[in-house]
Amino acid sequence: MSKDERLYQRQRADLVDELRLKGIRDERVLAAIGKVPRHLFVEPALRYRAYRDEALPIGLKQTISQPFTVAYQTMMLNPKPDEQILEVGTGSGYQAAVLYEMGARIFSIERHRALLERSKEILQTLGYRIVTRHGDGTQGWTACAPFDGIIVTAAAAEVPKALLEQLRRPEGGRPGGRLVIPVGDGRGQIMTHIACTGPDTYEQQQTHTFRFVPLVSG
Ligand code: SAH
Repeated sequence: MSKDERLYQRQRADLVDELRLKGIRDERVLAAIGKVPRHLFVEPALRYRAYRDEALPIGLKQTISQPFTVAYQTMMLNPKPDEQILEVGTGSGYQAAVLYEMGARIFSIERHRALLERSKEILQTLGYRIVTRHGDGTQGWTACAPFDGIIVTAAAAEVPKALLEQLRRPEGGRPGGRLVIPVGDGRGQIMTHIACTGPDTYEQQQTHTFRFVPLVSG
């Protein structure tokens, strides 16, 4: 391992400790964050900041989410091995990599082609087998539905209906799918967890306020 890699590894371990202190107690989530090389998902000039708990620019006015936010959303989604998970807003690819480390099958949609090309390349280099698509994630991904979990990593003014429809329905004692989505306007969004409880019923919980880049449809 090179000197730089040892340094990044130490910084990553410190970030995991920081997230634990900030209230992330899910060891599976912490282990995944402890593995994914976040510095490779940001441009070289910003690598020295990759393990600070902050969002960073990735171009086209978009950001890689703050590690606390990634950890929080992942904890809320609680992806289990072999579950089918859809991410809306691939961005840098970092969140997808964290989900993949937890053993789930990941599908991810991004509307900016240039961002998607870059994230595909890094995910592939690192051996993260994630299925990606360019397009509008508010429509979901019909061909790969239903999903056990859907995570939206951009601010939604309202919950897209297509995403609710593509959640797995409960069946034979198996619970329905769940959607984790920040809902609100430009000033702040409330993290929202929606579980599918029947053919056309949902249970919603809202927790803390976050700030995301906007979810843009069309
Ligand atoms: N999960 C990303 C966060 C990126 S920020 C990461 O780990 O880096 C949110 C991303 O959502 C941006 O890249 C933005 O282009 C994308 N986005 C916004 N609206 C979208 C939509 N309707 N469909 C797909 N992607 C969208």
